Amino acid sequence: MNIHEYQAKEILKDYGVAVPKGIAAFSVDEAVEAAEKLKSEGSTLFVLKAQIHAGGRGKGRTKKSGSKGVLLCKSVDEVRKGAEDLLGDVLVTIQTGEEGKEVQRLYVTDGVDIEQEFYVGVTLDRTCAQNVIMVSTEGGVEIEKVAEETPEKIVKEWVEPGQPLYPAQARRLAFALGLKGEPFKKAVKFIMALYKAYEATDASIFEINPLVLTPDNDIIALDAKINFDGNALYRHKDLLELRDITEENPFEVEAGKYNLNYIKLDGNVGCMVNGAGLAMATMDIIKLAGGEPANFLDVGGGANVETVKNGFSIILSDPSVTAILINIFGGIVRCDRVANGVLEAVKDPEIAEKVKGVPIIVRLQGTNAEEAKEIIDNSGLNVISAVLLKEAAEEVTKAIAS
Ligand code: ADP
Ligand code: MG
Repeated sequence: MNIHEYQAKEILKDYGVAVPKGIAAFSVDEAVEAAEKLKSEGSTLFVLKAQIHAGGRGKGRTKKSGSKGVLLCKSVDEVRKGAEDLLGDVLVTIQTGEEGKEVQRLYVTDGVDIEQEFYVGVTLDRTCAQNVIMVSTEGGVEIEKVAEETPEKIVKEWVEPGQPLYPAQARRLAFALGLKGEPFKKAVKFIMALYKAYEATDASIFEINPLVLTPDNDIIALDAKINFDGNALYRHKDLLELRDITEENPFEVEAGKYNLNYIKLDGNVGCMVNGAGLAMATMDIIKLAGGEPANFLDVGGGANVETVKNGFSIILSDPSVTAILINIFGGIVRCDRVANGVLEAVKDPEIAEKVKGVPIIVRLQGTNAEEAKEIIDNSGLNVISAVLLKEAAEEVTKAIAS
């Protein structure tokens, strides 16, 4: 689960990680109020930041006003003007894709003088099943580029999950940033606190880009990106409240309500499969046959009428879907029952309306597969049966081409 920068910074602050002062705002008035408050506490420079679940905001532009997603404001009036430009507009950055993301929240924060920009990240290194803390002197830029072009500029320390990060490791990282004296000590403290927050919140990504050194020798996080491990959220009810579903794909949110594992993709073949492995294989074979999957959908082991119906609703709410491939392995659940379930779902008035003109190819294998095929073939409905997965994929690709 992804959260906004202002939420991430609140969490960091709670763990003693240094962040600038800032206040979230949901309207122009709130942004102005926030700037007034910061001003009364001594701020002379403000940075107004669009809160969307994507990075690259500094270099991004909004569609209507052409505003940047991160604005330096010298007065409360400039904050007002910036907030008017940003709120409700769509921000396009290197991470949002062309469609961009609508700005619904803002963060008004203290403008910080920057002496030097760094990068710090924590994530799970799956190759060695350990957490890795990475730092680089190349802050403020795309870290992926640094990793590709000058990997030696990223210095790493690994920590066994459940074990602490040792101060000696944090010192090695701070040293790699070329820091000395007071900033060095502050960077060590920063890294220790950051790792503690990462572990305690069951995060999967913590990224501070940039981490900055100020002329006053402070070490402070100017940006913060946090991803939590969705599988651990059941033990962090407070963090679950930070979820902003308007930032998530609406189809995926809907599927989540039905307990379906759905991921939207770019193609036009809707897929309904039981089991994640079979779903992956199905997408592969669709591609091999020359088609493009519109989604990943694992309906789970049960595959009863209800799940099949819900699966149809989700798949059909995506307008790019022009054909559907159902691939179910009947192990515990018998194929004839799934076949009847599919037919019943297709006859449902709401689904019948949506499914007009969308060919459905069904491949059922396993217990009572032959009976299932017969049921489908004799149904008189616009549902085509297939025995081999390869056949099914070819049928569906043919259906799209015609
Ligand atoms: P993004 O990564 O989405 O572009 P950042 O928060 O990293 O957004 O902001 C982009 C740039 O704006 C930073 O690299 C930094 O130079 C500048 N910036 C961000 N926040 C502040 C701040 N509070 N004070 C001064 N400069 C800032
Ligand atoms: Mg950044």
